[in-house]
Amino acid sequence: MNWFRRTKKNLLETEKKNIPDGLWIKCPSCSEILYKPELDKTLSVCRHCGHHFRVRPQVYLDLLLDEGTANELNPELKSRNPLGFKEGRNYSDQLKKAAKKTGANEAVRCFQGLLDSIPVALGVMDFGFIGGSMGSVVGEKVARLTAYATENHCPLILICASGGARMQEGALSLMQMAKTSAYLAKYSEEGGLYIPILTDPTSGGVTASYGMLGDVILAEPGAFIGFAGPRVIKQTIGQDLPKGFQRSEFLLDKGFVDHIVTRKDLKPTLAKIIRHLHGT
Ligand SMILES: [Zn+2]
Repeated sequence: MNWFRRTKKNLLETEKKNIPDGLWIKCPSCSEILYKPELDKTLSVCRHCGHHFRVRPQVYLDLLLDEGTANELNPELKSRNPLGFKEGRNYSDQLKKAAKKTGANEAVRCFQGLLDSIPVALGVMDFGFIGGSMGSVVGEKVARLTAYATENHCPLILICASGGARMQEGALSLMQMAKTSAYLAKYSEEGGLYIPILTDPTSGGVTASYGMLGDVILAEPGAFIGFAGPRVIKQTIGQDLPKGFQRSEFLLDKGFVDHIVTRKDLKPTLAKIIRHLHGT
């Protein structure tokens, strides 16, 4: 009477194993369990609480530029290991691993294309590439993109996502703050319109340079935006930090951010701002 006997052992476990990995994801804000294909349809925004998950540059690219108009600028630029940096593992190996993981050569990808039929220069940072850290190539690519926008008199949009300067490149990475700021100053003198979009997280050297130099600064809801982390600040000032400190909404309240935009509204909002301020 075989049908009365359980022929397979650990049936429950076997069933569990049959669920493909990565199909379900827990929202860190509201703890709802979300179905990944559904989440992709909502641009990785939780439909229960509006939590904005971190996404790959391709999502912003597809979202913002009109179909078939994107041309990538300088995708071949790669970081070297100028200081021969080695801390636990070799920096060159880290770069190779990050390139393999993300399919890109650096933590920022730059494009020219059309946004709602308006020619724009667009840079998108990738937090998945060594924490979106700003090394000499990220700085160079942002500088070149700014130069492109200056020459072509088009609006410049930069989606920021970064843990800060790339410590593996030491002072060379810190210099990128001055370099990108100088290019942006020239662009501004020539009447350029620069709009950074701060996503989770925007911190360190990026906040201290091109993240905060926009004519209009936009942010995604709930993004961490700051220079030093809250733990460091708390230790330094010896006081508890206010609720919501270093989040988009807090920065909007204090005047560091001009507007908080949900992901699905990014394109129409950008088009509206550009048409008002750039006269396109
Ligand atoms: Zn949620």
